[in-house]
Amino acid sequence: MRFMSREQETAVAANTPPQSKPNEGKKSRQTKSKKSRKKPKKTPSELNVISRFATCGRCSYLLTAYRLTRDPADFTTAVHKIKSNWLTLTLDTKLCKLVNHTYGVRFDIEMFRVESCCPECRRAFVCKLDDSDNTPPYFRIKI
Ligand SMILES: [Zn+2]
Repeated sequence: MRFMSREQETAVAANTPPQSKPNEGKKSRQTKSKKSRKKPKKTPSELNVISRFATCGRCSYLLTAYRLTRDPADFTTAVHKIKSNWLTLTLDTKLCKLVNHTYGVRFDIEMFRVESCCPECRRAFVCKLDDSDNTPPYFRIKI
């Protein structure tokens, strides 16, 4: 019986945790490495779009005028939605006027779709003027 108790004593002694264990609790850092796997992002940044338009006087005029007269969030959203290099903006009367002024496109009431390009840099754009396909009128331009 006495022997047993002695063994217990040593066992307890051995189990005593070492005083210094400073790195405990810092382990969580290792999980960060997972973040390096970014999904491929093909949409350009706002600045990227602006600089692409800057190469042409007409196109940069259109974009600048659009950005100045709208909520900045509109442009941000539009940039996020760029698909296959087409920037899509909601086409309202204000933008119709702007497109007309910039590219000389005349909108007729019977028109439902206009496909054209910038007379200066040949940048293609599309104006969808009716409400078909459950999509509101839009102005789509290559970036
Ligand atoms: Zn242009």
